[in-house]
Amino acid sequence: MINKILQKSKFTKDDIVFLLNAKDDDEKKLFLRSAEIKEKHVGNKVWLRGLIELSNICSKNCYYCGIRKGNKNVCRYEIQLDEVIESAKFALDNGFGSIVIQSGEIQSTKFTNKILDILQKIQQLSSPKLRVTLSCGEQTEETYRKWFDAGAERYLLRIETSNSDLYHKIHPNDSLHDFDKRIEALNVLKKIGFQTGTGVMIGLPFQTIDDLANDILFMQKMDIHMCGMGPYIEHSETPLFKYSSLLLSLRERYELALKMIAVLRIVMKDINIASTTAFQTIDSEGKKSALEIGANVLMPNLTPAKYKENYNLYNNKPGKENTISYEFNLAFEMIRNAENIVRLNEYGDSIHYSTKKE
Ligand code: SF4
Repeated sequence: MINKILQKSKFTKDDIVFLLNAKDDDEKKLFLRSAEIKEKHVGNKVWLRGLIELSNICSKNCYYCGIRKGNKNVCRYEIQLDEVIESAKFALDNGFGSIVIQSGEIQSTKFTNKILDILQKIQQLSSPKLRVTLSCGEQTEETYRKWFDAGAERYLLRIETSNSDLYHKIHPNDSLHDFDKRIEALNVLKKIGFQTGTGVMIGLPFQTIDDLANDILFMQKMDIHMCGMGPYIEHSETPLFKYSSLLLSLRERYELALKMIAVLRIVMKDINIASTTAFQTIDSEGKKSALEIGANVLMPNLTPAKYKENYNLYNNKPGKENTISYEFNLAFEMIRNAENIVRLNEYGDSIHYSTKKE
């Protein structure tokens, strides 16, 4: 059965469900196929994105997130402009093709202008040698356009789940956490011309394999250029934590998330897929495994060490004590162990995006 499915040029939802349920030999065949597709379409190479966690201040209250507004135990911070530029300079000097600036969601003129200042300084620092991905949540079209015009070329906005009912179970039911608005924001990003990424959490309470299969089909239909997804890991200071007894084991969530990466690689052959920190939280070989079966992007954390422990999206997030250069060396080691090649001094644009644009 699995051989027949893996030979198909297009998967049905039932095919994807079957693949996500694959075990033992079937799972190995799935991973072998996704690794082949990766090698053929994006090569066995990995691009580095330097991740800068700009601020943990957020106006939202997502039920799964450790830095949600309602968590009063979080020590809030915002990295100063010169510190951001210092991290960007490290990325540039060490051959990273790009950086990712991630933040809690803040809609304000002050925040919009801060991002504009950062973009302007990075352009002065590096133009045209450093691509910038923003991951700063939902914003107005006007703000997105300003940031795009100022030099941001990629934007990551995770949908977290494509099932609107589930979305409402893991977010407050109000206008700030509106499923349709999030979809609309993704459409606007694409319309403006950003390389657009999204992603989901895998193993949420109430989530089914059907939901995950639909997430794959959603990403395919949205025709995204990049994806960042990983296993859901609970945070004890969040409302969703009370449903922990409903969860699959961490190991099961991890394995399911690897299968999601593999299936997505087969379905969307030439997009960029990140090997995310959540994998590494569960298994010390996690990021390497994701690279082996389909991911092609790693994001070493270039956030200055003094801020890192306060960007705590979920429990036991690793690497809080790592210095920037330790993160850099670790990325090389993982890539080497996955028998991939690190690509330096390249943008690493999504091939899916570049070929559509031509
Ligand atoms: S998931 Fe993002 S938007 Fe939601 S509370 Fe956390 S940082 Fe804010």
